[in-house]
Amino acid sequence: MTINTHFQQLPDNYLFKEISNRVEAFQQSHPNARVLRLGVGDVTRPLPLPVVDAMHRAVEELAHPETFRGYCPEEGYPWLRQTIIDNDYRPRGVQLELEEVFISEGAGSDLGNLSELFSSANRVAILDPSYPAYVDSSVMAGREIEFLPCHADNNFVPSLPKEKADIIYLCFPNNPTGTVLTHDQLKAWVEYARTNKSLIIFDAAYESFIEDSDIPHSIYEIEGAKEVAVEVRSYSKSSGFTAVRCGWTVVPKATGLQAMWMRRQCTKYNGTAYVAQRAAEATYTPLGKDGIQNNLAHYKGTAQLLSQGLRDLGFEVYGGKNAPYIWCRVPKGYTSWSFFDCLLNNCQIVCTPGAGFGPSGESYVRFSAFSNRKDCEEALKRLQALA
Ligand code: PLP
Repeated sequence: MTINTHFQQLPDNYLFKEISNRVEAFQQSHPNARVLRLGVGDVTRPLPLPVVDAMHRAVEELAHPETFRGYCPEEGYPWLRQTIIDNDYRPRGVQLELEEVFISEGAGSDLGNLSELFSSANRVAILDPSYPAYVDSSVMAGREIEFLPCHADNNFVPSLPKEKADIIYLCFPNNPTGTVLTHDQLKAWVEYARTNKSLIIFDAAYESFIEDSDIPHSIYEIEGAKEVAVEVRSYSKSSGFTAVRCGWTVVPKATGLQAMWMRRQCTKYNGTAYVAQRAAEATYTPLGKDGIQNNLAHYKGTAQLLSQGLRDLGFEVYGGKNAPYIWCRVPKGYTSWSFFDCLLNNCQIVCTPGAGFGPSGESYVRFSAFSNRKDCEEALKRLQALA
């Protein structure tokens, strides 16, 4: 046996593991401190009742011989895939076939697994900073990476790659910077991919935070994108499903990858949990939608509170609108990790050091709006005392 030595190129510790180690160490030495967690982008609001009811009903079905079900279809139940097409795509003028939508256990696994479809000789372009999964899975596969720096001078909007990229990971609304792309900005990427015969892996995990009308919710709103883009979506942040686990991936037939992905899923994926698929279906009922919108309104409110509050305290702040993340420049003299340590030790606030998302994140920290209003207000008070 020989191991995949590409793993040795990965940083020793996954970013969020390192953060939780430092927070745990702090908490152990300060057992009475009330730590405010504005770091990891995990949801905090409970599931809406119609979703919980749907899960109860699904469990009950599994409990009786006449309604029991075994393995779910590898690509997901047609009733959920059709519901996604009817609610998330058709109203935006996007026509998809049922066979192009694959239900998943969330975006994270598919973002990694899609990498299997491509040869390791492909050159990959990835935004810097970015959600770590794109870099990590490309490194594991031994691919060459071109980083596309995103900083205040380019408004965190990346330039096109300098050398031809075969695979491009785009994430908008962006984690961690909170940046969004207008229709025209995204169109430039679709045109690049069409000209260069590249594939865009479009991560739209934060689509539900979009409020401005000129921002596309799906890459397929751009003409010609179906030939060059795979889109990855998730119920995690839109519907509070980080524990439930459900999402979907669109692999259009026009990419030439749909049959390959189906083949891959049949061998390696035995379907998303039935209970999770029923829960996802319930998010589209009128009451389900109300509950989801209620939770989203809460997070949008905390995003607004945090970004305005930080701005008022004199911080240079980006994001927080159309996205649940606030990207904040650290004060002079700090690195992103030293400011993380400063906030933890002096204010008992947890943020995420920007350097964990790539070298261009070095002068920033990320605050997450997935928190309750009281904690955000308290965090701002503590920061004011620090200033
Ligand atoms: N993509 C981005 C940009 C994310 O920030 C996350 C999670 O934080 C994911 C994907 C993974 O989400 P999921 O819970 O659907 O696996």
